[in-house]
Amino acid sequence: MSKAGTPRHDPVPIGEVAEPPFVRLPDPSRIFAERAERFAALANGHPLAPYLRFLSGLSAAQHRAQAGISAPELPPADAIARAREFGMPPLDRHRFTASSEFDATFDRLLQLAGEIEKPAAAAAALARVAGADPGRREAMIRNVLSDSIPAEALADHVYVAAAMQLHFVRLAAQLDDKKLVPVGDGACPACGAPPVSSMVVGWPRAHGTRFCACSLCGTLWNYVRIKCTICASTAGIAYQEIDGGPGTVKAETCDSCKSYVKILHQQKDPALEPVADDVASLGLDLLVRESGYRRGGVNPFLMGY
Ligand SMILES: [Zn+2]
Ligand SMILES: [Zn+2]
Repeated sequence: MSKAGTPRHDPVPIGEVAEPPFVRLPDPSRIFAERAERFAALANGHPLAPYLRFLSGLSAAQHRAQAGISAPELPPADAIARAREFGMPPLDRHRFTASSEFDATFDRLLQLAGEIEKPAAAAAALARVAGADPGRREAMIRNVLSDSIPAEALADHVYVAAAMQLHFVRLAAQLDDKKLVPVGDGACPACGAPPVSSMVVGWPRAHGTRFCACSLCGTLWNYVRIKCTICASTAGIAYQEIDGGPGTVKAETCDSCKSYVKILHQQKDPALEPVADDVASLGLDLLVRESGYRRGGVNPFLMGY
């Protein structure tokens, strides 16, 4: 494990001024398909291979479950405008109510999840979720949307979280990116959820800038570097990584709130994906926790954290 003080910024190509957009909204036709591919690639030779392959299948199911089921409807325009006026996210996850489209998408996702290869624990969890009565399903949805998944039912909530991601990604994709405003530290401007990880991107005109990735709706929001993505402190920020690794996934630790969020250097490796690479770098979590920091990023697919 190495600890660096002030990291070096990647040089911005000459003649190019970085002008990152405030947000990049998710594309439902690509986000889950690309995540499925990344999980599959990460599974090769990985100690968590069976689980990563299962998550690849589940991401592919999230992609396929969209076919033939219409996207959920955005809240009314005046409600979105009012949220903006008060610095609130337009898609308030705490006000979620199920619609017939939502129920249909959830059921379709569970059906497709039944067809993928999975560890025995994941199969047992799927049977429990599929057989859950409406009250139990509703309670699990609340757990996911309030980031309070009970440790003893993590495997069940993986499917519920997948359904909620699918719903919120399809919603967020319909928002007007020009009308989103910051809603507070560590909160997605579209839905208010915390980040799963953050990413330094290599995009044209935004090279070397950093974006937080929403754990729920997949929206990316611009966030300056060397600043805690949870409490916004700029003092006491340091970086940890696994010795001998490629240096593309680090933990940004904050001494003010004693938390850390991973930072993926996608400008060095375009294949990095905010959710998949977070799960696959579990070893980094174990190292950073040893030095007394708690996880600030939320990822319902990261078993045990
Ligand atoms: Zn979000
Ligand atoms: Zn902090």
